[in-house]
Amino acid sequence: MRAQLIAILGEHGFTDDPAALEKYGRDETEDLLFPPTAVALPENVQQVAALLRVASAARLPVTPRGAGTGLSGGALPVAGGIALSLERLNRVRSIDTRNLTAEAEAGVVLADLQGWVEEHGLFYPPDPASRESCLLGGNLAEDSAGPRSCKYGTTRKWVLGLEAVLADGSLLRTGGANRKDAAGYNLTQLLIGSEGTLAVITAATLRLIALPRARLVLLLPFAALDAAAAAVAAIFRAGFEPAACEILERAAIEAVGTVLALPASLVGQDALLLLELDGDDPEELLGRAAGIAEVAAELGGAEPLVATDAAEQRRLWQIRRKVGEAVKHLSSYKEADTVVPRAALADMVRAARSTAERHGLRAICYGHAGDGNLHVNLLRGALTATEWAARRDAAEADLFQAVAALGGKITGEHGVGFTQRRYLPLSVDPAGLAIMRRIKAAFDPLGILNPGKIFPAT
Ligand SMILES: Cc1cc2nc3c(=O)[nH]c(=O)nc-3n(C[C@H](O)[C@H](O)[C@H](O)COP(=O)(O)OP(=O)(O)OC[C@H]3O[C@@H](n4cnc5c(N)ncnc54)[C@H](O)[C@@H]3O)c2cc1C
Repeated sequence: MRAQLIAILGEHGFTDDPAALEKYGRDETEDLLFPPTAVALPENVQQVAALLRVASAARLPVTPRGAGTGLSGGALPVAGGIALSLERLNRVRSIDTRNLTAEAEAGVVLADLQGWVEEHGLFYPPDPASRESCLLGGNLAEDSAGPRSCKYGTTRKWVLGLEAVLADGSLLRTGGANRKDAAGYNLTQLLIGSEGTLAVITAATLRLIALPRARLVLLLPFAALDAAAAAVAAIFRAGFEPAACEILERAAIEAVGTVLALPASLVGQDALLLLELDGDDPEELLGRAAGIAEVAAELGGAEPLVATDAAEQRRLWQIRRKVGEAVKHLSSYKEADTVVPRAALADMVRAARSTAERHGLRAICYGHAGDGNLHVNLLRGALTATEWAARRDAAEADLFQAVAALGGKITGEHGVGFTQRRYLPLSVDPAGLAIMRRIKAAFDPLGILNPGKIFPAT
């Protein structure tokens, strides 16, 4: 098998060096390690197809992989076999400035793609915080999102077509560069968010728009969480259409205060909303910002901070972006990527606080308020490994029950992967699970593609 794989992939496209097996046996999910037997690093779609033909014949598990920044263990080769890294398929094949599309391979780093697109005055909006390192293929497989999905939607909204290889090695092309496509089932959208369990995505045709010429950032402090939540509802109802609408609750503000010197007006607040507005006319943005400040003040919000120049905007964004680092600095932790209907956000924060308290843990919550997507971090603190494991698992189970009771889902953007799969029945009903299993079997009858993911163990 080793010789066969080297014959397909070449010396540079194959490794079973122990250091590489360890590297490709991890992602960014906790401290989990599942080394594969070998790592494949193909440089073109033909090599991907040949590899899958061989793996199919040998019934060998294959785990597709981007940059390994995933937070639900999706890229962990939990059944061994081959880690299939797409990192060398990293060409932008075309940027079409007449159709406003780009065709890029799965291994392109998201920030690089966005940079090239922007050189043409165009915009590809999806913006996970990992954009400097995550790869387009990983974004597609997870349907990743970020602050801007509030206005622009998640990755799937920007995909017109895919090139992918099926488990048996056959090449599949879906969609194309057309803005509309009513021809048959929408396989493009089925593969997006399938977490590497249905096919290996090798390239995508993406939709682009004109790059907004102006931005404005607004930070709104609130002495009460409920007032912040009410402001979110009022801001959308009034049609202010923020590009991003993020929230930090009290514990997150305190945490970020340990790594950044916060402006005095933010200290001691119960919640902060960070909004980004975009458009083409700076004056129009200032007008919208004034309207938002008025709405917030009516609900008890304090004086907002407004940033119109890029440096000041970066400084305000740091207050949101540094929360993850601040939490890491405080303690090891477990993050739950909850999502609830937007109006239930304050209830979700309260549920997280009370669940954590019941289990003797501390919760820090922050996230994408505009999407109702709240990252709940449960902190280990000084607990022993055994205490932590027991309390963490019990608290997480209760937390997801609370999410379901609020009409939410167990993940908004990080995917089910390996670590959330036991909770999937809380978000998908039995008929849905049964049809999903049949779809998996139709795409991958031998079960070689990313086994052990999404579906609860049977
Ligand atoms: C600091 C940090 C910040 C983050 N911020 C965000 C955020 O704001 N929003 C967000 O949504 N996520 C975020 N994430 C999670 C993660 O970055 C995203 O899920 C990202 O899209 C994963 O891309 P990746 O290339 O690292 O994929 P990987 O982690 O390598 O893989 C992720 C999943 O995709 C599958 N996969 C990868 N490539 C392919 C392919 N070509 N074909 C088929 N399947 C494939 C894998 O099998 C796996 O299931 C963050 C992670 C970190 C570490």
